[in-house]
Parts: sequence; structure tokens; C-alpha cells
Amino acid sequence: MSEIFSSLQGEGLRVGERHLFLRFRGCNLRCRYCDTPEALREQGPCRARLPQGDRSQDNPLGVEELLRAVASFSPRLNPWVSLTGGEPLLWDGFLGELLPQLRRFGYRTYLETNGTLADALPALLRHLDLVAMDLKPPSAMTDGQDVFPAHEAFLDGLGEVPLFAKLVVALDTNVVEVSRAASVLARHAPRAALVLQPVTPRGGVRSPSSAQLLQLAAAAARHVREVRVIPQVHRHLGLP
Ligand code: SF4
Repeated sequence: MSEIFSSLQGEGLRVGERHLFLRFRGCNLRCRYCDTPEALREQGPCRARLPQGDRSQDNPLGVEELLRAVASFSPRLNPWVSLTGGEPLLWDGFLGELLPQLRRFGYRTYLETNGTLADALPALLRHLDLVAMDLKPPSAMTDGQDVFPAHEAFLDGLGEVPLFAKLVVALDTNVVEVSRAASVLARHAPRAALVLQPVTPRGGVRSPSSAQLLQLAAAAARHVREVRVIPQVHRHLGLP
């Protein structure tokens, strides 16, 4: 684990709700705009921001240890546990033990994922209440790789789990790649909404203009019924 903390969900369709975040270490991708570079390293401690104070815990954390930290929080205040990263699905065996326990505590489970690790899904599907899946065009990757075949396998593997997709858009994102992402989503998950998320500028990556955002949203709406543009609200509020 990289972090445990409670904050407002700042992205996607459940923006503004209080969530308990469990941030996992490690990721199988490298994106140009990654806003959690410290979580990409599998080595390092876990920073737990508990109601009773901050604590640094050594990794690897066991499920029981993590649940002791989770027990400090209230599911009434944080109705959802957001499994985020990094890429949580790298730790599918751990999640298979953790997710049923989180539900027993009364939490709803929300998986934030880069949507490329379909093999991890079968054992976890019945423990997931909502999946927020990123769509990553080649221009988002530091090495330009095309992960859409993996996205398609992931979408096909999700079954009936509620899903929305998120596409981070930058100044250099073009209509062609937004159209491709939207059409893949519409083909494999016709009921899913698509959130276009203007990138929060960092490391030379710049956010799109307002005119460009409207153009990209119109391109997506040619394929997907529900398209929204939602920035990273937690960044605007100075929250983690
Ligand atoms: S998939 Fe997410 S965590 Fe991984 S590099 Fe990209 S933005 Fe960062």
C-alpha cells in the first residue's frame, strides 16, 4: 500500500462524495500525466492518515493489518472505499481477500483502474459495486504503446458490474483519439458513461482550451450517450 486516507472523491461520476481511499503501489503502465508518481514504486512505506493521527507502516501490509487501519474510519462518513493507485489489480489475490471484508464493514467498493488487466477480473467481479476505468490513448503513454486491445478485453470481462470510463484530455489530445476511445466504449459497454477529464497541468503537459473541450466532448457524444467533462475537483480544493 502507498496511502490510506479519507477525502472527497475528486474525479468521475461520484465526484464530491467522501471516500476512504486505499492507494496501492505499483503500476504496469507509465502515463505522461501521472499524478501519483510516488505510488508507482512497489517499494516504500504506507502513509496512513488515520483519524487519530498520521502513521507510517512498513510494507507489505497484510489484509488483517490493513483492516485494522480501515476500522479507524466510519462507513457512515465514507460510504465508499475507493481502491486506487498505482494499479490495484496488480494485487488481485490480496483484493480477493480484502473486498468481501470491506463489504462486511458496510462499505461499497469502487475500483479505479487503468483497465488493462482483464485476467484479474473473474475472481473479483462479485465483490465490486462500481468500476471507474481509464481509457489510455497512445499519446497518453510515455512509450506511445497502444493498450486498446487490453481495454477491449477488460470491458468484455466486466460482465454486469456498473462502469463508467474516464479519458484524460490534454492540449495535444485530438478528435481522432477521443472518437476511437468513445467508439470502443460504446461497442463493448453501451450503457457506460464517458467522463472527459481535462488534465491538471504538470511536467510540461498542458490542459486543453475550453473550445477544444467542447469539440472533444462533441466527438465523444457521436458514440456515447452520456458524456461529461469533469476536472480533478480535489486539486482545485487542495485535497489529497
Ligand atoms: S495508469 Fe494511472 S497510476 Fe499508472 S502511470 Fe498511468 S496515471 Fe499513473
